[in-house]
Amino acid sequence: MKILSINAGSSSLKFTLFELPEKEKVASGLFEKIGLAGSFYTIKLNGEKIKKEVNIPNHTVAVECLIKELLDMGIVSSLEEIEGVGHRLVHGGEEFSEPVILNEDVIKRVSYYNEFAPLHNPANLLGVEAFMKALPGVINVGVFDTAFHQTMDKEHFLYPTPYEWYEKYGVRKYGFHGTSHRYVYGEIAKYLGKDNLKVITCHIGNGGSITAIDSGKVIDTSMGFTPLAGIMMGTRSGDIDPSILEYICNKKGITISEATNELNKKSGFLGISDISSDARDIEDAAANGDERAILAQNMYSDKIANYIAMYNNMLGGADVIVLTAGLGENSSLMRKLILDKIASLGVELDESKNDFRGEFRCISTENSKIPVYVVPTDEELMIALDTLALKEKN
Ligand code: AMP
Repeated sequence: MKILSINAGSSSLKFTLFELPEKEKVASGLFEKIGLAGSFYTIKLNGEKIKKEVNIPNHTVAVECLIKELLDMGIVSSLEEIEGVGHRLVHGGEEFSEPVILNEDVIKRVSYYNEFAPLHNPANLLGVEAFMKALPGVINVGVFDTAFHQTMDKEHFLYPTPYEWYEKYGVRKYGFHGTSHRYVYGEIAKYLGKDNLKVITCHIGNGGSITAIDSGKVIDTSMGFTPLAGIMMGTRSGDIDPSILEYICNKKGITISEATNELNKKSGFLGISDISSDARDIEDAAANGDERAILAQNMYSDKIANYIAMYNNMLGGADVIVLTAGLGENSSLMRKLILDKIASLGVELDESKNDFRGEFRCISTENSKIPVYVVPTDEELMIALDTLALKEKN
């Protein structure tokens, strides 16, 4: 059966069409600059990529275009072949702890959390509405970035701020990247044949978060009220002293929202190196001796190592550490920098196993007190599998 996995942003729509349960990626693609000048889309099929520049004024047109291409390119012979559409939804607040079948009522409830993720949730829902119109009668499922983290208890999700901030305004840690953490946890649990594992999952890509998981339940995670918190990232600062905001606003004569924008878009690798947010550019510059690039790498690996050490303590000793996403899967150098910094936990990298990209592999020595695995993530597949599961239940 064919299931579409969708990630709609404010001006983009990413799709992957899966054949399930075989987990085969049939086709994938991306619509970009929706509603802007120069909109276009690309579709990948059988290793080939087509690109078309067309006017795409909104998400409804993007979805109509996608469906037409699926038929014209012979990817599906009739629309009935598409039996479900799974959507990435960033924020489900405290209400949604699992994937959900989307209908008008659920969409209204999800919209309540738009305020918590103003750049993502409304855009995600545009995608949902476009598919409901284009494929009436087909099940639409929402899979939330926040859902997996809903098992955290108050001790871990509350900030030590006035309690009223939580009760009246919903200020708490929600956590993000839940679909990725859940996917790699599932993969490592399956591989090791255990469901009572204590795992530290490190999703380290352009965005990044570290999660402590005990027997499938999240105990704590590094992102917070928003995805700005936790470790340093490509362009995000991660945790900083909150007093910096008022100070820098006064000094630079900028607003809180301008300063927050700098923390989101001009910090992290980019902010420290002044070169790029992309880890590959930082690696190249560091290899050429650029001191700020080296500093950025050292700061980055430091933050991650410290979260791992903290979560190891919280879990009472982790059984396994998992590295995933862009850097976790591909950067031998960053893997080494991080693992060297958690040597005090008895973790030992096997350098002879570390020179590779994008594979499921154990990279620690036999003597390592905590085994370390690289587990490629696949949020699109997880969303499609969740959609299939809800379709089969209903
Ligand atoms: P993601 O957000 O998961 O797609 O990850 C993107 C990040 O992974 C970017 O910073 C990339 O530079 C980084 N990345 C991808 N491939 C490599 C690689 N071969 N070496 C180092 N970093 C990489």
